[in-house]
Amino acid sequence: MELEKIYGDLKDLVSDGSRVLRDADMREYTTFRIGGPADFLVRPASEEEAAGILSYLKENGIPYTVLGNGSNVLVLDGGIRGVVIRIGRDMARIRVSGDRLTAEAGALLSAAASAAAEAGLGGMEFAAGIPGSVGGAVFMNAGAYGGEMSRILVSCRALLPDGTVRDFSKEEMELGYRHSIFEENRGIILSCTLQLAQADREKIAALMKELAARRAAKQPLNLPSAGSTFKRPEGYFAGKLIEESGCRGLAVGGARVSPKHAGFVVNEEKASAEDVTTLIDLVRMTVKDYSGVELEPEVRIIGEKKR
Ligand SMILES: Cc1cc2nc3c(=O)[nH]c(=O)nc-3n(C[C@H](O)[C@H](O)[C@H](O)COP(=O)(O)OP(=O)(O)OC[C@H]3O[C@@H](n4cnc5c(N)ncnc54)[C@H](O)[C@@H]3O)c2cc1C
Repeated sequence: MELEKIYGDLKDLVSDGSRVLRDADMREYTTFRIGGPADFLVRPASEEEAAGILSYLKENGIPYTVLGNGSNVLVLDGGIRGVVIRIGRDMARIRVSGDRLTAEAGALLSAAASAAAEAGLGGMEFAAGIPGSVGGAVFMNAGAYGGEMSRILVSCRALLPDGTVRDFSKEEMELGYRHSIFEENRGIILSCTLQLAQADREKIAALMKELAARRAAKQPLNLPSAGSTFKRPEGYFAGKLIEESGCRGLAVGGARVSPKHAGFVVNEEKASAEDVTTLIDLVRMTVKDYSGVELEPEVRIIGEKKR
């Protein structure tokens, strides 16, 4: 199908055509600030729009990639063929009712955590500093400082590849370490409901402040990255293994293993995705030789290599 036709069709599927981009610069949609262009990027503003876009793409055999805030992905230098469906600020309503919070998937975790804090609800403090969307956090079962999405999730609503919209209970989401069922069923998470608990507003604010300070002290937040590059291997800490094996500060092109936190690869100087993947391979090999432990990337590598 002609690209121009797809562009026109996508614009017809959303209420505001400016939410469809052609040759979208993925550096602007990822916290790593790396990656070639996506043929198209569309930002649905409602469940209905997302469903219309998905059914059009399926009917026409056009590949698609779902993206939230782009804080856990590395887009390869050749970019992304087909359509990126970006669930972000256009689908970001948050509602508090009693001690439950319901958020659309595009809401930032920080915004949801702030809304909870304002309503005097505790339980989301751990998530305030994770720079992802609610949908991305459910998909990844994001966690920090002893908290994890699985502890507060009640249910979520998702659009499945066959076009049906369905509610998933927490059990049905099969949440594990940085894993959910949506990795397998390719559902697009539309919204979720969290169970929080009444707490003192000042205590919530103080805990959020403390965790933000701990993050700023340990993590290289001044440079673009996708957070922890590797999953935590059972019984070890990735950052510690990387440090002990001598990889702290190691660089390939513009990518470097952060001297501040060896668990993070940072984009120090206009790094290409190839710089990052070469560095990741080098670190994995070195850590394997040093300790016998196989590090698995937590960062999700998407798109294609430059030809
Ligand atoms: C500085 C920094 C610190 C970080 N700290 C932490 C931390 O403490 N703990 C932690 O767990 N993570 C951390 N991360 C990683 C990241 O923020 C989380 O994994 C976050 O949950 C990803 O959300 P996102 O919206 O950015 O997802 P994206 O990066 O956009 O996508 C990640 C995956 O989720 C899928 N996805 C996203 N949205 C949806 C949706 N609506 N429906 C279906 N699939 C979807 C994508 O297809 C992709 O496979 C950090 C990252 C950075 C840059």
